[in-house]
Amino acid sequence: MLVQEADQILQRALQENGPDTEVAFPNTAYYLPLVFGMTGREVQTLGDLVPVIEDAKRLLRPVPADRRWTPYLGETLDSGIATLLAEETIEAVRFIYGLEPQRVPGLELAGGTAFTSPDANGDGQAAGNGHLNGPIDDIQLRSWGIQLVDGRMPGFAAIVGAAKSNEVAVKIVRELQQRNILTFLAGNVNGRSIIHQLQEEGVEMGYDTYIVPFGLDTISAIYALGFAVRSALTFGGMKGGQAREILHYNKERVFAFVLALGEVDDLKYATAAGAINFGFPVVADTRIPQILPTGVTTYEHVISMPFNEIAAEDDLGRAEKLVQKCIEVRGVKVRVTEVPVPVAYGSAFEGERVRRADMRVEFGGKYSRAFEFLRMVDMDEAEDGKVEVIGPGFDEIEDGGAMDVGIVIEVAGREMQQDFEPVLERQVHYFVNAASGLQHIGQRDIAWIRISKAAAEKGFDLEHFGKILHARFHADFGAIVDKVQVKIYTDPAELEKWLETARDAYDFRNQRLADLTDERVDEFYSCTLCQSFAPNHVCVVSPQRLGLCGAYNWLDCKASYRINPTGPNQPIRKGNLIDAEKGYWEGPNEFVYQHSNQAIEEVTMYSIMENPMTACGCFECIAMVIPEGNGIMVVSREDPSMTPAGMTFSTLAGMAGGGLQSPGIMGHGKFYLLSPKFISADGGFKRVVWMSSFLKESMADELQEVAEREGDPDLIDKIADERDATTVEELLPVLEENEHPALTMPPIF
Ligand code: SF4
Ligand code: ZN
Repeated sequence: MLVQEADQILQRALQENGPDTEVAFPNTAYYLPLVFGMTGREVQTLGDLVPVIEDAKRLLRPVPADRRWTPYLGETLDSGIATLLAEETIEAVRFIYGLEPQRVPGLELAGGTAFTSPDANGDGQAAGNGHLNGPIDDIQLRSWGIQLVDGRMPGFAAIVGAAKSNEVAVKIVRELQQRNILTFLAGNVNGRSIIHQLQEEGVEMGYDTYIVPFGLDTISAIYALGFAVRSALTFGGMKGGQAREILHYNKERVFAFVLALGEVDDLKYATAAGAINFGFPVVADTRIPQILPTGVTTYEHVISMPFNEIAAEDDLGRAEKLVQKCIEVRGVKVRVTEVPVPVAYGSAFEGERVRRADMRVEFGGKYSRAFEFLRMVDMDEAEDGKVEVIGPGFDEIEDGGAMDVGIVIEVAGREMQQDFEPVLERQVHYFVNAASGLQHIGQRDIAWIRISKAAAEKGFDLEHFGKILHARFHADFGAIVDKVQVKIYTDPAELEKWLETARDAYDFRNQRLADLTDERVDEFYSCTLCQSFAPNHVCVVSPQRLGLCGAYNWLDCKASYRINPTGPNQPIRKGNLIDAEKGYWEGPNEFVYQHSNQAIEEVTMYSIMENPMTACGCFECIAMVIPEGNGIMVVSREDPSMTPAGMTFSTLAGMAGGGLQSPGIMGHGKFYLLSPKFISADGGFKRVVWMSSFLKESMADELQEVAEREGDPDLIDKIADERDATTVEELLPVLEENEHPALTMPPIF
């Protein structure tokens, strides 16, 4: 039994290392998340694991009268939880022995992992190749939050074992990707894992493609359940130890299932029983004892669906049916937009890269030009669904070559407004990227698109850009868009002409944005999208302060209100001005009070020190006061390093989020940094004494403009980052040497 094994492993580790040896998973503020969630124990040392094993043993016994174990669904389920506690204990001990992460030679994950973020394992070098993912970062978990909330990502699948063939493995995963379901991989059958199968077939794995390989054994499947626990803690506002609430949250809100491929041994079966506690059904492609609904919960299922008995023409058809069964058993509607293209299509493909070697042709980038331009036209000027390619296709271009392209989208609709043009145009990036084998970067006249050889071989052609855009604008913006026509220009003279028109429009829009200040509008907008998991949080979005996730600015909210007048973005009349400097108005105060379940009485738009805006968990950055520096630091989600506040982003996120108002700390969107209204009540951008180098580098030009606006062109260089200071002691001399302006400003407190 696994609990005994965990006990023995723990005892040996205790003897060899002592009870004070530190135990931790990387990049998470939730200790060992499953243990923390189910028992409330904050495990930090080996010694702390002893009572965890006692908990697990108790669960295996007949239930005592004073049982504190609330999720009582019978002995199988209790022993399932016991198995999970034992598994997490074993993984934690493994970390001490450096046995984690496991490796698969040659494997390289797309989009970073716990072990490929710069020096995440603290060994002084960027993490190496071949590492499997291990536990998921808190940062990644939160950044998936938005997609889980708005339904783009319906949930996750944990696949354990190996498929009948490589072909079937690929098919299963592609089926899941097309539905934007996050896929976790673990386990093996006789040493062979689905991870090997996908790797052999060249399927890109990693955060960016929604396929996360945890490890080659069954035990590593624990990370999927740790992820589920952390979802409840992060988004559901639950506390460690609230086992019943956490399990309930998952059953109600987290769409997930386990797919067991190949032979199911005792350990897999016990782990499956653990998953059922979360309301996650288990579907096996072999013959195993079924557990059908008992009436206690909706989803406690183990379903046996022997692969060879599935009625279909071939193995690929069987794989498809298997995935359908999983989704059906979990009973959640998956939104799929039919897009008529010859390649797979879904948001899970958004992060896919097309490497130069795999590329058929590119548009934009170094060797050619590409632009995209969306404009509003009159109803009678557009013929819905018409796609024209004006100029030659890419047949004549050699493999890996480049050519110019201009994509002009004309939309008409009774509810359409000129202000919505940039909002819609920005979607082109997501819409095009969602096609498998396509890569889209940038926007406007710095767009850069690649088509892979594989996509071109399947018949993907220029006109398919138009097909994608037509289908998606109707599906996602049908309330404001009645007609969509697309013209794709490759003819040099025509392209030139349209590029000029587009650039005039970009200039016009830039001016419009610059003119759009908080003073000039009568209405701000709310965003309450995140209330499905942070029930007291309201983002107040003004022209000069975007939503903290970075995904919604004032124009986006305005368009979204048009699309869905009863949706999460409502106009907020500013009403009477109370304090122009701090940014108090009667309207936002009232709105926030009403919509925060009366938790928040007042909110300022421009201060971090006084009634700052609350945060859910999706913020791109966290700002926090550093009293010794008489200023603030700004840490970006991408930055895993220690900060002068003595905490990393993950830990700070726990303080900044949850819909609470905590003066001195605030989550915000990256672009708010550039606004003249950025904490203007507290002294503005000049208060920034420390900032993640990621921000400095990724927004270098924009920040330079801010420095000049603030009358201090060298300001950005005066701001410290993690390369020169990760403690307050290190920070102060740097600020003095740089003569940072914050040092001579009035006290921030
Ligand atoms: Fe959530 Fe605010 Fe972004 Fe809306 S704007 S999705 S509430 S973080
Ligand atoms: Zn949010």
